[in-house]
Amino acid sequence: MDSRLEAVRDTVLARNPGEKEFHQAVTEVFESLGPVHDRHPEFLEGAVLERLCEPERQIIFRVPWTDDAGRVHVNRGFRVEFNSALGPYKGGLRFHPSVYLGIVKFLGFEQIFKNALTGMPIGGGKGGSDFDPRGRSDAEIMRFCQSFMTELYRHIGEYTDVPAGDIGVGGREIGYLFGQYKRITNRYESGVLTGKGISWGGSLVRPEATGYGTVIFAQEMLKTRGQSFDGQRVVVSGSGNVAIHAIAKAQSLGATVVACSDSAGYIVDEAGIDVALLSQIKEVERGRLTEYEARRPGASHVSGGSVWDVSGTVALPCATQNELDGDAAAKLVSNGLIAVAEGANMPSTRSAVSVFQEAGILFGPGKAANAGGVATSALEMQQNASRDSWSFEHTEQRLTEIMVGIHDRCAETAAEYGAPGNYVVGANIGGFVKVADAMLAQGLI
Ligand code: NDP
Repeated sequence: MDSRLEAVRDTVLARNPGEKEFHQAVTEVFESLGPVHDRHPEFLEGAVLERLCEPERQIIFRVPWTDDAGRVHVNRGFRVEFNSALGPYKGGLRFHPSVYLGIVKFLGFEQIFKNALTGMPIGGGKGGSDFDPRGRSDAEIMRFCQSFMTELYRHIGEYTDVPAGDIGVGGREIGYLFGQYKRITNRYESGVLTGKGISWGGSLVRPEATGYGTVIFAQEMLKTRGQSFDGQRVVVSGSGNVAIHAIAKAQSLGATVVACSDSAGYIVDEAGIDVALLSQIKEVERGRLTEYEARRPGASHVSGGSVWDVSGTVALPCATQNELDGDAAAKLVSNGLIAVAEGANMPSTRSAVSVFQEAGILFGPGKAANAGGVATSALEMQQNASRDSWSFEHTEQRLTEIMVGIHDRCAETAAEYGAPGNYVVGANIGGFVKVADAMLAQGLI
């Protein structure tokens, strides 16, 4: 790392002790930015990096709620409003027991660059809670969401901060959150949340957007080597929103997706994952992957273990951060891998990324490859602002154009800075320069 940037990075780490995912995200971005500071000394003089690493606002709050037996629980809620240089803070809410400030800050930090890459007018933020939705009834989920919003509502708004979903937060949760916001504020402010239901201000293609976008990005990478998804053998991690739609899109392009996972294990289905069955089990019944094995002849379930033990030519990590380490990366490479596109945020550890890059594997980092979700959220905001709703075809066309644009911008930026084919460098520099220019133009804020 450039020594000027290393000093700033060390200060950031010391100021934010114990936040290891945030440290990892900051370090990974800083490693790309040395050449930018050679060309733009004004970024150093303006202390852009120091400012960028300090969120504009961090909100931590108590979320009390009662379960169905009347017992009182207390969780912790977070919203980190990281950077508003390009637009209102924008980023999802995650409900998962692992959530703490370091996770929310890593996600919010990544979101700044991702949102800049989309070319849409959105800043970066993220939030969530250490609430565990698993096994909770609809009524419990609703009471939790209502309590969460009872504090959050005062910090958000269509021109201020626009949350959406992430792990553990899908259409059901966005519905309960929106209902409570409307009730408290007495405003039908559609643009305050994205990922809404279609009949009450949502956008077609938003549920599919992150997974579809990841595959579109991967397809563009494959094209640079004269290849496509047709005939590829694909391994996916996760079986939630991003994974399911990535599987569907990859198979629609002629690939066979042979495996996917959840936190308890993975399934292998050599005939290609049956997306309708997977969606029924995971999204409708909220069940486990073991049920897929029971209902799909020829499929097998492996408890525990790593889905990355399954060979594939394309890997799409779509579950969670740091789920793919250096050993798993080496195994994938030795099994014939040619491309990786991250549907999840920071799923590959830094050593995994090194393994991929040293082996010459096409590697699309999450902040570029999974930007289709937030980009379509921005399209939802556009539709809300004009009180319009677009067709599936039109919205999907816009998503495709945005993903191809992100791919091309990353590729061009990487080449411009002497790292052709390095999408990590392209994404980090491409996102950073846009935000840094805007920050300097807006004065010392
Ligand atoms: P979901 O909650 O819909 O699904 C998450 C999936 O990942 C589930 O299959 C879950 O398994 C699995 N998972 C979660 N934690 C672990 C773990 N520790 N080990 C193994 N598997 C795990 O979330 P999404 O699909 O929305 O999000 C997945 C990833 O994509 C996250 O990194 C998120 O930040 C990122 N992302 C999401 C966007 C969106 O639009 N939703 C946009 C951009 C990025 P189980 O069911 O067992 O918990």
